[in-house]
Formats: sequence, structure tokens, C-alpha cells
Amino acid sequence: MDRIDFRSDTVSWPTPAMREAMAQAKVGDDVYGEDPTVRELEALAAEMTGKEAALFVASGTMGNLVGILAHAGRGDEAIVGQDAHTYLYEAGGMSTLGGIFPRVLATDDMGRMDITAVETAVSPDDAHFPQTRLILVENSYGSKGGYPLPPAYFADIRAVADRHGLAVHMDGARLFNAAVAQQIPAADITQHVDSVTFCLSKGLCAPVGSVLCGSAEFIRNAHRMRKVVGGGMRQAGVMAAAGLISLRQMVDRLADDHQRAQKLALGLAQIPGVLVQPEMVKTNMVFFNLAPDVPILADVITEAMQQRANIWVGPTGWRSFRAVTHYWIGDQEIDLFLDTLRAILAEA
Ligand SMILES: *Cc1c(COP(=O)(O)O)cnc(C)c1O
Repeated sequence: MDRIDFRSDTVSWPTPAMREAMAQAKVGDDVYGEDPTVRELEALAAEMTGKEAALFVASGTMGNLVGILAHAGRGDEAIVGQDAHTYLYEAGGMSTLGGIFPRVLATDDMGRMDITAVETAVSPDDAHFPQTRLILVENSYGSKGGYPLPPAYFADIRAVADRHGLAVHMDGARLFNAAVAQQIPAADITQHVDSVTFCLSKGLCAPVGSVLCGSAEFIRNAHRMRKVVGGGMRQAGVMAAAGLISLRQMVDRLADDHQRAQKLALGLAQIPGVLVQPEMVKTNMVFFNLAPDVPILADVITEAMQQRANIWVGPTGWRSFRAVTHYWIGDQEIDLFLDTLRAILAEA
């Protein structure tokens, strides 16, 4: 890459093997269901998540949206965490396009809704209430440091859903980070949900794309919804070819990103003026803050990091940051990050 970019794992460039596979990809018209590479990717994604079928989509947001639209409709209610990506960061798509009413619940430090609160929120069959159809969950949980939630939590959610006849959709943008961090197959997590979206374009390094997985009937319905939002992609095998490499070669190595995030967090904890909780860093994200006595603000620091070492890091507030590790961040880049920040703060 042409810069050392810690702002997100979405910035990761495709690997040389991906560019090669993209150049060689067999393609067809995917709207006709004729792209062999897209079909291969969808079959592999379904297998890895333990579902019957899958649908290649342009983005995680599109996967969540068409998944939600396939589960629920106008006047239905979806239970969702107050800081879930599907609620906060997807332009209100479920309401904008689906007329679906979000029922918003608090989440704890790891991104879990209280199970009793979830069950309490399910509306009874009474004309006063929108009818609850869907529970939205997320793993890893982006707004809570990328925390990887265990299968047991989703088993509890499943039990509530089953008692009330609800569907469960998982925003698994970083599903494989959550699985690798817990050293379990992704399907151990997704067995408890009806549908899941995961991104190929984040830590898995593909240039574009996400996959929505679920039952064959659900995916047929989602396919129509993808058409509604203009998401049919024709010779998409060029992109699916990179996604196949993501699933075959880039999943296990996510452990390296997690190790480097841990190394970064432990290093940050040694820098005077930095506040960080390394024990909360379980995947590839490190959130950290400036101590109250640091006299400069986050934007001054991020600017200085760029000037001095071509290191890009995202401020998340006046005195807070997020740094994300990925394929293009090695041990040297972690060391350079720590040395550069230490020097900037020492001079402040
Ligand atoms: C990135 C992300 C998405 C999807 O984002 P796109 O940019 O649309 O691919 C969904 N949920 C979470 C938690 C994410 O981090």
C-alpha cells in the first residue's frame, strides 16, 4: 500500500493473488444466475456459515438491508441494539425502504442486549403495537471495540426468537474475526441465526463485496430484494474471484491481525498520556484515548502522524482514536506507530 493506514480494515488493498484470480476469472451474467465464479463463492459461503444458500451483494449494508427486507415488511418491528451498525450506520435503510420500525435496546460493554429486555420488548398480538418479526444481532460488535461475542449469547437470543416465532439476522461484517478470535468455526456462531451477512472487503482483503447467507427460501426472497435495490451485478465473477481467495486463504491469518492489535494495545499502554484497555482488545481493533493532562487534541496528533511517518489513524472524537490492523499492517508498522505517537506526545 502507498500509506500505512490504520483507519479501518476496509482500506486494505486486494492481494497480488486476488488480482491474478480476478484477471483469470470465469464470468457470466449473474442476474441470469450464470456466473460460475459467483455461484462458487455463494456455495462456499453457505457451507462455511452452515446455511443452505447464499447471495453475493455489493456491500455489507446491502446484505443487511436485503436480509432485513426479506424477513420483515412495512409496520413490522425489529429489535436492535442502540449502537448496532444496522441501526446507526446504514442510513436508516430498514425504515427508509422497508417501513420497518426499530425497537432499540441498550447494549453492554461487549455489545450484548439483555436477554430479558429482548423478551420484554417482543410485542403481544394487540392492535396497539407494531408486530415484532425480527431480532438484529452483530458479531464482532463494531461499536464495542470489535468484541467477539460467544455462541452462548446467540443461543439465548435464538431461544427467545423461537418462543415468539421471530427471525434472527446477524450483521457479521467481521464474522470471521469473531470466529478466529474464539478459535471456533464460524458455523458454531451462525447456527443460532436464520441469516447472516459477512464482508469480504474488510480484513479478508477483497476489493468489493459481501455475502448474505440463509435458507434456500430466504435467499430466493432476498434475491428479489437485491433486484429492488438495484443490486444485480452481471459479470460479478471478477469480484467473486477475489472473494474466493478471501474465504480460502485469508480467514486463518486474521489471527495475525488480532495478535498485532494486542501488541499495539500493550505498546500504547506503555506510552505516557495514552489510556487503553488491552484486555478488551480481542480482534483487530484498538480504541484508545488521551489522558486528561495531554494538551493537544486528536486531530493535531493524527495530522502529525501523517506528516512524520505517513501513518493514517482515525480520530473518533476530540480525544479518542481507533486503530485497525489488517493484512497490510506488519510488525514493523506497529513499532513505527508506537514510536511516532510516543515522540509526538513527548513533545506536546
Ligand atoms: C463495515 C460494516 C458493515 C457494512 O459496511 P459496508 O461499508 O456497507 O460494507 C456492517 N456492519 C458492521 C458492523 C460493519 O463494520
